[in-house]
Amino acid sequence: GKWVYTFGDGTAEGSAADLDHLGGKGANLAEMCNLGLPVPPGLTIVTRACSHYYDNGRTLPDTLKDEVRQGIALMEKATGRLFGDTNRPLLVSVRSGGRASMPGMMDTVLNLGLNDQTVEALGHDAGDARFAWDSYRRFIQMYGDVVMGLDHEVFEEILEDEKGRLGHENDTELSAVEWQHVIGLYKATIEEELGEAFPQDPQVQLWGAIGAVFSSWMNPRAITYRHLHNIPAEWGTAVNVQAMVFGNLGTASATGVAFTRNPSTGENELYGEFLVNAQGEDVVAGIRTPQNITEVARIASGSDKPSLEKLMPEAFEEFQAICRRLEAHYRDMQDLEFTIERGKLWMLQTRSGKRTAKAALRIAVDMAESGLITRPEAVTRIDPASLDQLLHPTIDPRARRDIIGSGLPASPGAASGEIVFTSEEAVTAEKEGRKVILVRVETSPEDIHGMHAAEGILTTRGGMTSHAAVVARGMGIPCVSGAGNLRVDIRNEQLIAAGITLKRGDVITIDGSSGQVLKGIIAMMQPELSGDFGKIMAWADQNRRMTVRTNADTPADARAARSFGAEGIGLCRTEHMFFEGERINVMREMILAADEAGRRVALDKLLPMQRSDFAELFSIMHGLPVTIRMLDPPLHEFLPKTDIEIEDVAGRLGMKPAELRQRVDALHEFNPMLGHRGCRLAISYPEIAEMQARAIFEAAVEAARETGAAVVPEIMVPLVGLKTELDYVKARIDAVAREVIGEAGIEIEYLVGTMIELPRSALRAHVIAESADFFSFGTNDLTQTTFGISRDDAAQFLNTYIQKGIVLKDPFVSLDFDGVGELIQIAAERGRRTKNGLKLGICGEHGGDPASIRFCEETGLDYVSCSPFRVPIARLAAAQAAI
Ligand code: ADP
Ligand code: MG
Ligand code: MG
Repeated sequence: GKWVYTFGDGTAEGSAADLDHLGGKGANLAEMCNLGLPVPPGLTIVTRACSHYYDNGRTLPDTLKDEVRQGIALMEKATGRLFGDTNRPLLVSVRSGGRASMPGMMDTVLNLGLNDQTVEALGHDAGDARFAWDSYRRFIQMYGDVVMGLDHEVFEEILEDEKGRLGHENDTELSAVEWQHVIGLYKATIEEELGEAFPQDPQVQLWGAIGAVFSSWMNPRAITYRHLHNIPAEWGTAVNVQAMVFGNLGTASATGVAFTRNPSTGENELYGEFLVNAQGEDVVAGIRTPQNITEVARIASGSDKPSLEKLMPEAFEEFQAICRRLEAHYRDMQDLEFTIERGKLWMLQTRSGKRTAKAALRIAVDMAESGLITRPEAVTRIDPASLDQLLHPTIDPRARRDIIGSGLPASPGAASGEIVFTSEEAVTAEKEGRKVILVRVETSPEDIHGMHAAEGILTTRGGMTSHAAVVARGMGIPCVSGAGNLRVDIRNEQLIAAGITLKRGDVITIDGSSGQVLKGIIAMMQPELSGDFGKIMAWADQNRRMTVRTNADTPADARAARSFGAEGIGLCRTEHMFFEGERINVMREMILAADEAGRRVALDKLLPMQRSDFAELFSIMHGLPVTIRMLDPPLHEFLPKTDIEIEDVAGRLGMKPAELRQRVDALHEFNPMLGHRGCRLAISYPEIAEMQARAIFEAAVEAARETGAAVVPEIMVPLVGLKTELDYVKARIDAVAREVIGEAGIEIEYLVGTMIELPRSALRAHVIAESADFFSFGTNDLTQTTFGISRDDAAQFLNTYIQKGIVLKDPFVSLDFDGVGELIQIAAERGRRTKNGLKLGICGEHGGDPASIRFCEETGLDYVSCSPFRVPIARLAAAQAAI
């Protein structure tokens, strides 16, 4: 097949539909050409070439050279320049770009094609020698760093020394001759350090850069990034070679980046930054502080540097029109890169813009309300996991703020933590359970790990589109960037503010919504869940098939879950109630009783406690379904362990410590998770199940009398593997139900079902369904029992498994669709074969995981149940799965 796709001059061989082949950058450059927008001509080497490169011992396909040559010929024709020509040289950029944008990849090389001859020609042709030498030194710096592998700091040091010697403050003050001198030093240093000369042949330069893009696919940064974002290595990257346009060609030239809407708030306003007389990377790297694109934003920021709107009104008008057009075309907020060369606008990139969760909601709602997208589409535009960001705390407005500095509000939410200055420290701190704020002059892709580990990020340099800002927004971590009134003194591990010096380990708070940096810990407030959030959730609910319930053991959990929109309780673990206050002692009395009579005495004391718990849950859930699980854990979990505890408990129970120790030892199990637990307890001690059933039914009677809302308790029997187990326990529950209903004279409807958490119960589902009113998939245990992996001991080796690629994801976090998933499908299908419409739900941790929720939708489950804070995520994910 074809290895190269060309674009330029109003046409392109590819389009946005070719994302997989051309990568995001290449596909969208092609699309913009097809739309007739001003795009410098270029070519894209397809992602398949990257796979070929790795499958064939890092060599490129034979026909690639020819196809690239032809592509360059088209670029030469379109620009009227020739690659390597000593009259009118064509210069190109070499840009990587896979299907998913990847900050870990090779940096772009600009101005490729310059050498000692073409630099002279470029200067002549532009009538600006200084510009040509400036471009050449940039090229040597970039190529020396990203292709030849000489650290960019080596070049920076040379430049700093020269500036010092010449008495210059800024790069812009160097003359052509002075740059020429710097270039001499650069070249000499390369030869000295690497033992090879900087290549003068443009063809050698070109293939050097192309090879570097492909090898960067497997550099550690890129690999880490792919791991974190689940990007398969097989995808590969494309390479774009594009004719250069120059933002550094004098004061009528500029380069910038922009979003068609505000990426932080979602406000429908063009938002961006630019630099006059500069080239691409200058904006992102935060070398100079950029200027605002629009006048409105300039005024809002209080900047005294002119906006693009004022400075270059014609280019601005055209740019604004293109922004509107691209947004309407892609039907989404765009993130754009552009360059203005002597007043002429060129588009260099467009893609869907990264945004905060808050902005995502605002944009989706605005676009749906203006009719650009439909409501279901708006629902699909929100990443469910990102809703977490909205559940982030903000600083309590009433709190006293001890402001020590301020920067840009780069990523919303507030966070407090100890100051650390390196990513390594942030990672170590996270392992030790300490909360930290990563404080840097600026961040780079090497910091990804540290940024993940930190509560928040503070930089003293860089704008809203700096690396720190973009990455933090993507991660949902609060960030203040470009806090210019703070200074980082790395050597002495200090953060210096006006009048105060903070050391490593001192606690600060950053407010990513206002840009403020504050001393110490500050009171925080929980967020509002109305407005755009409420609208999207309502639209999600209209498109959702499955119900979303919550796992709640306490009234507080149940109330929180209700406020997040839970439609019932899918799992109430009754044992959690036994640990509270005095109850644990009664529980111990029950467990340690010598016989059934003794147990019943203790159970009679537990009954009113359980009943009042259930009554409260029923009244909070007000007629919504409530699933209560019978006692599940092995009994020794309730017993004292240390000698001191034993002494204490023995005293309370009037036993001898030695006697208690003996009883505790007797209850010891070698493998308690597969031991005497679940329905096995109810079979050994039916009086426990009877007490629990009585508490449930009596509470239901109470709730029905008090609230008038009919409660339908769903009683769930755990760890069933045999139908006979369920039958035995169910018979006891039914008997108690008859008694209570008879006593009360009120009809109470109820269901008795089982958890499916053993492979045997999944396989025998058609038989078990004869006795069950519902199945609830307990996927934590089902994962444990299917894999034979103890979830309490898995952490160590599962991490190794993930690192070595044995498994892609932790199966306790994201459902193992192939194995555990198949068991669920089998159980669902066999269960419903016996009982049409058998109610099915999931109550494991996976009930709050978007990918697992999609699986539940596809399997036809009736509901998912998850922890209260994940309820909004589950509502949205369930809707997306159904759309
Ligand atoms: P990234 O993926 O890191 O954004 P890009 O390939 O988009 O890297 O390049 C970064 C910047 O380099 C661009 O935003 C643009 O300013 C500049 N650049 C890239 N190609 C060209 C070109 N052909 N002409 C002028 N500037 C370019
Ligand atoms: Mg870019
Ligand atoms: Mg279980």
